[in-house]
Amino acid sequence: MSSNIRIQRICQQCGQEFTARTTVTQYCGDNCAKRAYKARKKAGKVEASNRETERIRNKPLEDIKAKEFLTIRDTALLINCSRQTVYNLIKGNILPAAQLSARKTIIKRADIDKLFQLTPLAQTAGQLAPPAFNPAECYTLTQVQQQYRISEKALYDLIIRHNIPKYRQGIYAYVPKKPIDVLLGPIL
Ligand SMILES: [Zn+2]
Repeated sequence: MSSNIRIQRICQQCGQEFTARTTVTQYCGDNCAKRAYKARKKAGKVEASNRETERIRNKPLEDIKAKEFLTIRDTALLINCSRQTVYNLIKGNILPAAQLSARKTIIKRADIDKLFQLTPLAQTAGQLAPPAFNPAECYTLTQVQQQYRISEKALYDLIIRHNIPKYRQGIYAYVPKKPIDVLLGPIL
């Protein structure tokens, strides 16, 4: 779009002022245009390289997500915690696991997903209040302790860790049966 107009512009590459013939000219001359082109190309390559790095970095996670059975290491990677935390979850009967041998423990991917379904906070993202108190669908804390033979502290830890709603009525504190049953197994 050449014309007779003359416009003073700043070269996008060298920063010098120059006289342009169009309002869209960006560079003072061929040299700067070439240099700018090279710089763009280089930036594109760097970006592609960064994307590739990101892809390689994420690949293990993608692979893990596709698996049905996970190792302790996979599980730790997937939920972004330490392996010790995974062992603790298993030991605390929060995460079911199968010990195939002394050195091989496997975890079902579906069980990991269940961990999060048990967390009302994760489901409601803090928007909804816990369900209304219904004594017929609750245990008292004492009941849970006695039935499952767990200490008061273990029960409190469980309640906090899984964000289980707790209700108080009179001198009793209640928790809903459902998450407790899922976590600790049905009472026989
Ligand atoms: Zn220039």
